[in-house]
Amino acid sequence: MNSTYITSAAKAEQLPDLGKPEIAFIGRSNVGKSTLLNLLVGQRNLARASREPGRTRMVNFFDWGQKLILADLPGYGFIAANRIVQKDWTALVQGYLERPQVKALICMTDGRRPPNEEDLTLWRDLAEFHKIIFVVTKIDKLNQSEREKNRREMQNLLAFNKLKNAEVYYTSATKRTGVDELRKVLLAICEETQSEPLLPN
Ligand code: GDP
Repeated sequence: MNSTYITSAAKAEQLPDLGKPEIAFIGRSNVGKSTLLNLLVGQRNLARASREPGRTRMVNFFDWGQKLILADLPGYGFIAANRIVQKDWTALVQGYLERPQVKALICMTDGRRPPNEEDLTLWRDLAEFHKIIFVVTKIDKLNQSEREKNRREMQNLLAFNKLKNAEVYYTSATKRTGVDELRKVLLAICEETQSEPLLPN
């Protein structure tokens, strides 16, 4: 399936209506979002567009196989210290999430450190209105016992935060672990939502 960069939005008013179901990726800067997007669609440089200066704070839209839109949401984490940036981020992401074409959110977290209160608060908020799929990245950096520990911690944290029914996938870009599985999940969501109206009447 071919994939192309479509456009980027810096403000909620610029968010496009592309007439297709959307799946969005959200995580801290450096979690491995661009890398995973490229692997999922099988194009090495696709998400390079979203790395260009300025675009890291925008929502970047990619068409996938002409039937699904993948949206790369601006990374969070760096924003906590800067109130103005945080306000802009919240307005843009809220505006994005209110659109009815958003069918699922891929919430990403780095396998090397457990999600913190900022991640969990965000995930709880997102889960109120959206289907969430969790992705733990960079698992090649963990040995077997660290992976087991991460799995247990993740399950406990999700249960404690009433997110226990969410699916969790473990990925490694270097070993390509979990990528095919995740791709199938995204395509299944796309199939399921084909019959639903994208916009309210
Ligand atoms: P983004 O800021 O979330 O888009 O993160 P990037 O995709 O740019 O990745 C940040 C860094 O982590 C880069 O140096 C990637 O090569 C590296 N990286 C991403 N995914 C993996 C992974 O699964 N394993 C390892 N070892 N490195 C990864």
